[in-house]
Amino acid sequence: MQGCIRNRKGKPSMKFKNDYVQRVYDSVAARNPNEPEFLQAVGEVLESLVPVVEKNPSIEKNAILERITEPERAIQFRVTWMDDQGGVHVNRGYRVQFNSAIGPYKGGLRLHPSVNLSIIKFLGFEQIFKNSLTTLPIGGGKGGSDFDPKGKSDTEIMRFCQSFMTELQRHIGADTDVPAGDIGTGAREIGYMYGQYKRLRNEFTGVLTGKGLSWGGSLARTEATGYGLCYLTAEMLRCMKNDSFAGKTVVISGSGNVAIYATEKATELGGKVVALSDSNGYIHDPDGIKLDVVKEIKEVRRGRIKEYVDAVPTATYHEGCSGIWTIPCDIALPSATQNEIDGASAEILVKNGCFCVAEGANMPSTPEAIAVYQKAGVLYAPAKAANAGGVATSALEMCQNSMRYSWTFEEVDAKLKEIMEGIFHACYDASKEYGEEGDLMAGANIAGFLKVCDAMLAQGVAY
Ligand code: NDP
Repeated sequence: MQGCIRNRKGKPSMKFKNDYVQRVYDSVAARNPNEPEFLQAVGEVLESLVPVVEKNPSIEKNAILERITEPERAIQFRVTWMDDQGGVHVNRGYRVQFNSAIGPYKGGLRLHPSVNLSIIKFLGFEQIFKNSLTTLPIGGGKGGSDFDPKGKSDTEIMRFCQSFMTELQRHIGADTDVPAGDIGTGAREIGYMYGQYKRLRNEFTGVLTGKGLSWGGSLARTEATGYGLCYLTAEMLRCMKNDSFAGKTVVISGSGNVAIYATEKATELGGKVVALSDSNGYIHDPDGIKLDVVKEIKEVRRGRIKEYVDAVPTATYHEGCSGIWTIPCDIALPSATQNEIDGASAEILVKNGCFCVAEGANMPSTPEAIAVYQKAGVLYAPAKAANAGGVATSALEMCQNSMRYSWTFEEVDAKLKEIMEGIFHACYDASKEYGEEGDLMAGANIAGFLKVCDAMLAQGVAY
């Protein structure tokens, strides 16, 4: 089921103020005509890079934009698995190894029926800049499958994960490519995949992150993306508005890993989270979401968010997802999926007083929604900055695995907070240096790009 994703076309006719950037975009659009999400992500990044390209002629001379928009490697493979009744199914698996200029490819595995090459390429492309922003040595990659984990038994999930890893294992490695979780891939799936990797390769290495705590996982990895989102948002509120979460009404979409731990941290920082959702609908609890109820439904029973109203009868459930953006709030943290806020939803958010949007999901706002935030002066933290806490903590997990050592929860959490605050300042400083002060989208794209660009220039071109 597609859920609430709004299908949108790419914009092959985007216009840029620089001839070189225009030529690169036109060429990417011509070569990838059926990849709207990928084109959307490329268009947004290229637009921000116009002033950088104008200041640094070596970018055009060395074809850096042409190279950075083409994956180093894109693997597609068949995944055959057997259901509990003996029926045989075939899914499509992907791993896109986008850029390894600053470290091994790193990025999650998405299991969702909407997965296709365009979605994996958009996620892998975004991951290059996000990973660079963390300041840690990790390149960009992404993978997944159009397999739908919903309604499958544990043993069906296990057989799928084993079959998926049977092929994936030949392309990854602790110093080559280190996948992690994403939509549909949590601790259970990582466990089944890791078991199969170990079986086939006879090695116990940090080849996946998001592992269980007793076999190489990092404390605070589960919480990292949601917590990190709130750390960055809090720093943005403090520095740009002399404000905080205290006393603010917060709306968060999704009810998965990111949404749950964003709810936990936003509440701890004094905010009141009043709504959560899934791909069927949303709950509204004006008294503030009771997170223990949500965790029991989602993490213990793997249920649906509508079950919340059985435990909290004063809350209401509404079918459909976009209605969540009609709930008045000060802060919105979209944490479900791409393109979940379009221009019309953004207009309603702003009209109802929302003054801050920080993205937990990848690319949850359409370009039209971003234009609405910018026109209204909404504080806006784009995904590649705001949700980088997950991959940053994954890189800390890799570090602990290499040392054969574990840090405490407090140690990892403190490093995460420092990294997220650092990302805010890197984005802000880059926006200022390139004449767009306070535009964190431009700042994130520029700061993330510069480090990768330097490494690509230093590493030369293979003739
Ligand atoms: P989960 O699978 O744990 O949860 C996803 C949530 O989003 C579920 O509530 C799901 O509802 C909802 N959702 C998924 N697809 C759709 C859809 N098409 N329409 C509406 N709702 C949908 O995933 P995560 O919480 O891990 O990921 C959420 C987002 O955050 C993704 O964009 C992911 O790429 C991004 N992200 C995640 C990181 C992590 O560490 N986990 C790191 C960085 C980014 P349902 O159950 O009905 O499908």
